[in-house]
Amino acid sequence: SREIHLVRRPSGIPVEEDFAVVTGPSPEPAEGEVQLQAVFVSVDPYMRPRLDADQPLNAPMLGGGIARVIKSRHASLREGQLVRHALGMRERFVSNGAGLTALNPDPSLPLSVYMHALGMTGLTAYAGLLEVGALKNGEQVFVSTAAGAVGSVAAQIAKIKDCYVVGSTGSEDKAEWLRTTAGLDAVINYKATPIAAALQAATPKGIDVYYENVGGDHLDAALTRMNLRGRIPVCGMISTYNGGHDGVRNLFNVIYPRIRIEGFLVGDFGHLNERFIEDMTAWIKSGRIKYQETILDGFARAPEGLIGLFRGYNSGKMLIRVAD
Ligand code: NDP
Repeated sequence: SREIHLVRRPSGIPVEEDFAVVTGPSPEPAEGEVQLQAVFVSVDPYMRPRLDADQPLNAPMLGGGIARVIKSRHASLREGQLVRHALGMRERFVSNGAGLTALNPDPSLPLSVYMHALGMTGLTAYAGLLEVGALKNGEQVFVSTAAGAVGSVAAQIAKIKDCYVVGSTGSEDKAEWLRTTAGLDAVINYKATPIAAALQAATPKGIDVYYENVGGDHLDAALTRMNLRGRIPVCGMISTYNGGHDGVRNLFNVIYPRIRIEGFLVGDFGHLNERFIEDMTAWIKSGRIKYQETILDGFARAPEGLIGLFRGYNSGKMLIRVAD
């Protein structure tokens, strides 16, 4: 069995040498335990800030994904059962059931969807936009990183709510997907045009909700476009994760329009899960939520996947597929 370890604290965007793939024996389950095989491993932007301190060196990367029970000596977890877990980047491992959540996917949907639109990133978009952002039908919305796992769902939920939606992204391919497949009203390629001028042109009626994923110049640009009592749910600030400073200069603009800026964590919104799963399953099946995936095959590619997030290599969710 293999594990992904952090062996050196990165400076700036991580490189492959900061990680190691460590091979050891596959642990056998004791009475009351199961042996699990990773199916999908998740790599997520939030992991980067952890690499500076919270992630222990020479130990499995914190994280999780979907795994399958392959041997069971447990009273209720059967062989073949799929589970979600947060037990680290490990290929095969044992558990007494603590930290496992049984996953019984809709057989008409691909399992991978439970790693994004019907998983953590989907709930992040749903809770952040509808609860924290208090989105109302027909509002003016800006979503940054709009072609990513969270952003693509947030932008399309806003379209479902009959909003005018502007998205930003860093490549022409992703911009094209947002325009033609996701149906956004305007799309900005921030690598091709300066974000501030482009956002001004794309938001003739201002912004009621800015779904913030990037920070820095994106936040600065949005701050000059906010309408009265606008909301900025702060989901992430990926432009700051590899070091540096957010460099925000336009915070003054929150005062006169009475803007609410509110950070949030998806972990606080478990109570919405049932409603979220019901809504999202229906939206996916009816084609109202579309998604992209960038799948890297092979457990050992997890570091490459994590690094790729900070280089914009993913369209939609970045996934590591370990087994069928
Ligand atoms: P994505 O699928 O959006 O992947 C990351 C994307 O970020 C890249 O593809 C790239 O897209 C963009 N990006 C990378 N570096 C920069 C940069 N310097 N400036 C601007 N854009 C950049 O990841 P997720 O959907 O998983 O996460 C999106 C955001 O949501 C992150 O900020 C993350 O931390 C946050 N998040 C927050 C949660 C919470 O509970 N608060 C939970 C989950 C995620 P492009 O090519 O378009 O630049």
